[in-house]
Amino acid sequence: MLEFILWVRAILYTWCNLLLQSPYRYIMGYNKAEKQPVRVLVTGAAGQIGYALVPMIARGAMLGADQPVILHLLDIPPAAAALNGVKMELVDAACPLVKGVVATTDVAEACSGVNIAVMVGGFPRKVGMERKDVMSRNVSIYKDQASALEQHAAADCKVLVVANPANTNALILKEFAPSIPAHNITSLTRLDHNRALAQISERLNVDVSDVKNVAIWGNHSSTQYPDANHAIVTTNQGERPVPELLADGEWLRGEFIKVVQERGAEIIKARKLSSAMSAAGAACDHIRDWVLGTPKGRWVSMGVHSDGSYGVPSGLIYSFPVTCEMGQWNVVQGLHIDEFSRAKMEATTKELLEEKALAYSCLA
Ligand code: NDP
Repeated sequence: MLEFILWVRAILYTWCNLLLQSPYRYIMGYNKAEKQPVRVLVTGAAGQIGYALVPMIARGAMLGADQPVILHLLDIPPAAAALNGVKMELVDAACPLVKGVVATTDVAEACSGVNIAVMVGGFPRKVGMERKDVMSRNVSIYKDQASALEQHAAADCKVLVVANPANTNALILKEFAPSIPAHNITSLTRLDHNRALAQISERLNVDVSDVKNVAIWGNHSSTQYPDANHAIVTTNQGERPVPELLADGEWLRGEFIKVVQERGAEIIKARKLSSAMSAAGAACDHIRDWVLGTPKGRWVSMGVHSDGSYGVPSGLIYSFPVTCEMGQWNVVQGLHIDEFSRAKMEATTKELLEEKALAYSCLA
């Protein structure tokens, strides 16, 4: 009998404790199962874009406010001291989502187990350098880093190349990391996409979040084709095509394209430094939409390997409008391409084919 009473008392005690503690634990978030950390690699992490990008990832702008991360930061030996400074600042920022920081100049260590790789490091074009010299340096960097990712990254690693020439660096990476699915290797044109949305928002005096479905076609270079023929603005009367809302129809074929293409150079002129903050934000947008999905009815622009859609040669890394779902991107199909657009898309294709030939000649 005594045993029975003690047993009932133990049960009641446990239940009372649970009942009293649960609301508190719920409010404090203790009951939510914490997600496993995702390992995110940033190369060139001591550089300008790296310095802007790392805190954004640490605060959840890339993978969400409930996703812990382990940051892998890579730079070259001459930048080792600066890289250590970035790590110290990251520690001082005391970000709850950061579960570890690996700051290293060893590419194998940096790539070990990474789920996401943002490739920002690259050789910059210096005054007096030939195009071929810059290409040759970057081909060699991307060949080595591809091998390291191939050997050490997680099998499903998603790669975003930011360093220029971004599309062709991604192409080399795809070539030398054959076990990473081609679908997982992409390049950044999201900054150009965001710039296009912003230009339309300013022109029509509407909120930028009410503008959608611009497309960047082709290379992340001055031959890119920012296309707003299919763009839409949400108004009080519902959704309206952007070309219908513009009083000056020629703006979309002239100034709009030029401003988006030359925005980077304009910012360098104004700041005496490149557009690192908006590039870092765009890298976060690119990965976030790829991993978590694009909102229904919206598309974004990503440099992805062509499957021949819209007549773009298969295998080139070319920027297309895409939608993303469950970690996969899909090219938006069936858009009407007029003669003007076709010519622009072919011009940027031609440049990418020339870059590809130059890159392969550097490998020979
Ligand atoms: P940034 O961080 O400003 O730029 C890095 C790369 O991103 C460049 O290739 C740059 O192209 C490109 N980029 C793409 N979009 C943009 C944009 N909108 N605005 C600016 N840049 C853009 O360069 P830093 O020199 O500050 O940093 C580079 C880092 O890479 C350094 O820390 C350096 O040590 C490292 N590095 C690594 C190498 C390696 O991994 N082996 C080799 C050389 C350097 P663009 O050049 O056209 O501006």
